[in-house]
Amino acid sequence: MQFKDIIGQEEVKARLKHTVHENRVSHAQLFLGEAGVGKLAMAIAYAQYINCSDRTLEDSCGVCPSCLKYQKLVHPDLHFVMPVASTKDVKKPTSAEFIEPWRNLLERQKQYINLNEWYEEIGIENKQGIINKDDCNNIIKTLGYKSYEAEYKVMIIWMAEKLYHAAAPKILKILEEPPEKTLFILISESREQILNTIYSRTQLVKFPRLKDAQIVQALSDNTDCTTESAQRVVNIAEGSYKQAVRLLNETELDALNFSFFSKWMRACYQNNLQELVAFTAEVSKIGRERQKSLLSYSLRTIRNSFLINIDQNAMVKLEADERTFATKFSPFINQANIHLFTEQINQALYHIERNANPSILFMDLSLQVVQFLKLKPAAVQ
Ligand SMILES: [Zn+2]
Repeated sequence: MQFKDIIGQEEVKARLKHTVHENRVSHAQLFLGEAGVGKLAMAIAYAQYINCSDRTLEDSCGVCPSCLKYQKLVHPDLHFVMPVASTKDVKKPTSAEFIEPWRNLLERQKQYINLNEWYEEIGIENKQGIINKDDCNNIIKTLGYKSYEAEYKVMIIWMAEKLYHAAAPKILKILEEPPEKTLFILISESREQILNTIYSRTQLVKFPRLKDAQIVQALSDNTDCTTESAQRVVNIAEGSYKQAVRLLNETELDALNFSFFSKWMRACYQNNLQELVAFTAEVSKIGRERQKSLLSYSLRTIRNSFLINIDQNAMVKLEADERTFATKFSPFINQANIHLFTEQINQALYHIERNANPSILFMDLSLQVVQFLKLKPAAVQ
């Protein structure tokens, strides 16, 4: 990672480079800021810069042997510690056990990652990861060795607020008096959750939120979204690049779901068996996560159509084309069938999660929907 590849954060970059030019690299630094503003990418770029054999005033060279190893995150003097938990395959979890998925995720996401993504990557979504006692021992052991080839040995501790409190005292001494030419970079999203004993031993580097224009630029560089959708998500991304990317994916998914859903409901309404067979075949191929997403979307749109039917428009939040569809669809969603839709789609979600056959499931559901759409509310007395 080079400085030039980092989104915004010009002041932080300048300050970090200055420490190198002045030969005043502080041995324990705390990178603090919201998720998705580039702390981890910056830590890696900074370490690469320090160890580059041919750096300029502005950036690392990107081509010397040290830079090449840094870019693949395989430099023997670059170490990572991050929150982990036991999995089916790893009974005694340490960061080293998970270094492969770590490198893969960082490469895929261009070093902008968040905690959920990490937990998902190593399959511990339902657990709380921690930086455990074994990892604290490993930090001391690793830094006790001489560096292999680099000028600086670098230890990046990602999400330092996840440091297991009882294990933290182990690393206080080495944080305070590290072996020569050692650099600790602790990364955290939460000042409140960082132990004071750790906080007081580090030099603080604060990361501000990104500017909207910087995020828009990064989205247009890294994704194929339109300027309009980039603008729309930036308004609610609160200065976090990661958040903007997540919102963008959701928006794209919603557009896709909308096209599936409207086609599906039309075929059900017309009781067009041929169309329904085609729809079922298509939806069987999109994979379980997308099928779940489509069902949740359907549930939401049917509820919104019901709200429009009973004149509760103020509660409905939809994009323009979705609103047009939901308004036309709303006369068919009423007191007589709303609970049936809700119940059957929830059932379908339940079964999809438990590996039901999607062709059978979507065909059954479609035939039920055909019947539900014919139901009319009891006449008002
Ligand atoms: Zn270099």
